[in-house]
Amino acid sequence: MSELNLILLGPPGSGKGTQGESLQEDLRLPYYATGDILRAAVKEGTELGRKAKEYMDAGDLVPDEVIIAVIIERIEGEEASDGFILDGFPRTVPQAEALDEEMAKLDRPITAAILIDVSDEEVVRRLGGRRTCEAEGHVFHVEFNPPEKEGVCDVDGSKLIVRDDDKPEVIRKRLETYHSKTEPLVDHYERRGILQHVDGTESPAEVGERVRGMLATLRREEEMEI
Ligand SMILES: [Zn+2]
Repeated sequence: MSELNLILLGPPGSGKGTQGESLQEDLRLPYYATGDILRAAVKEGTELGRKAKEYMDAGDLVPDEVIIAVIIERIEGEEASDGFILDGFPRTVPQAEALDEEMAKLDRPITAAILIDVSDEEVVRRLGGRRTCEAEGHVFHVEFNPPEKEGVCDVDGSKLIVRDDDKPEVIRKRLETYHSKTEPLVDHYERRGILQHVDGTESPAEVGERVRGMLATLRREEEMEI
């Protein structure tokens, strides 16, 4: 099989990160969560890392071209010669177009953009039900993983709170940003014929099965073309 260059798409709370990590193990491909590789570049003190740090220190967004350059630097490394899994970038259509252009220069097109689709209601249910322990950050969920005693951490008995990120108004804001900025990417990749749609409502294991089944189909199709 030729390389698998994958992009993960999905709203907050879709379980993208979990799927990315499990794909990384199954496929033995590097998993690039954009925040992590930016931080890594900063830590390693590469030229691009230093550039990114200037923006971060000033409290500015790191410009697209710097992020793309950091990603391309990783993609060109030995570790990504069979492909990679990208999560958290692109987030907007202009970013996707810029990434397409850079990948075309390398003659390494994106194989698939995998959308893990979850309704807004489900996102609110998943994120809004999270309760975090004030002392150590132990995480519970009122529905999926309730503590033995309501509002109290099982591990250390401290108070469980709703983190700012999990507050309804913040979740709604994040969903709004997702719908306005990131969802147009779905059309972008659909037009290019590489969008793969996966229902993210089921359990992580089931979603993982679907993703692996979809990749197996891609492989078979590719073999038939050769
Ligand atoms: Zn705790």
